[in-house]
Amino acid sequence: QVKRSGKGKMEIFSAEHEIEIQRIRSLEFCLRTDGIERELSVVYQPIIDTINGKVLAFEALARWNSEVFGAIPPTTFIPVAERIGLIDKLTHALLQRALDQLKTWPDNIKLSFNLSPNSMTSSVMIDRMIAQIEESGVDPCRVDVEITETAMIGNFDDVLTAIDRLKAFGVGIVLDDFGTGYSSLAHLHLLSFDKIKIDKSFVSAVLTNSASFTIVKSMLALGRQMEVGCVVEGVETEEVLKTVRRLGGTTIQGYLFSRPMAAKDILPYLAKFGQDLNPVLRRA
Ligand code: C2E
Ligand code: MG
Ligand code: MG
Ligand code: MG
Repeated sequence: QVKRSGKGKMEIFSAEHEIEIQRIRSLEFCLRTDGIERELSVVYQPIIDTINGKVLAFEALARWNSEVFGAIPPTTFIPVAERIGLIDKLTHALLQRALDQLKTWPDNIKLSFNLSPNSMTSSVMIDRMIAQIEESGVDPCRVDVEITETAMIGNFDDVLTAIDRLKAFGVGIVLDDFGTGYSSLAHLHLLSFDKIKIDKSFVSAVLTNSASFTIVKSMLALGRQMEVGCVVEGVETEEVLKTVRRLGGTTIQGYLFSRPMAAKDILPYLAKFGQDLNPVLRRA
């Protein structure tokens, strides 16, 4: 009896495993064939200066709505694209869409664009991005590139070179998901970032977990002392906003203000933004 159920479990496990492998294979296939051209889109989430109540930037976030699989989150399909060598093509397509959008926004609003660790270590990709921004006619200082600590593991010198080239070209460099990777402080010290983004995992727990509170507080203090701007991501409630502001965080991204939105909603959002936001800011 016991033996049989044990064997049964093994079979179920391997069947599930097989299904998962199949799923990933067909995910790869779909991404290769349809994914990039037809089914990918970009949504935009505002980053807000809570001191003067203005939108500073929109972060471009990739979406894949697959006919076969439905909505697949970027945390799933970006690594797949990296693995099958499709990330450069994907990045190029996403950046083109985002730059086309940026051109329709007021001049004082920036674009924040995520660069995958793979692209950050490829000098070909960096060249291509610089050329692409140049060709778009957009002022490079309106573009921030968000990179993560993951990019630096084992590729420190390549990433350093990429950062120098991008900075010399004029785009801003942002350290995303700060604190979730390795040797955060060493990276912050050695590389000159224009901004750091405090990860939402710390922010969402700021009221409930005293370690998270201390981490957010310390990161904001670090940013001030090193004169590196801090973006606080993942602010979902007025209570969290209040605490973050008390700790000196003023540049905020999160569902409290807005979820990522479709490109067509941006100009209407900007038009009525101040009215919607002011009551929240006064309360916080
Ligand atoms: P990220 O760059 O740290 O982006 C922030 C993520 O937090 C986004 O998830 C955003 O929708 C989410 N978020 C923002 N505010 C809140 C909030 O108040 N509460 C909660 N719960 N979540 C919030 P998303 O769009 O699923 O993106 C996840 C990750 O996928 C991004 O993390 C980024 O690492 C990656 N990614 C997204 N788009 C791209 C892309 O075009 N290229 C590359 N290389 N990576 C991308
Ligand atoms: Mg980001
Ligand atoms: Mg982030
Ligand atoms: Mg994050």
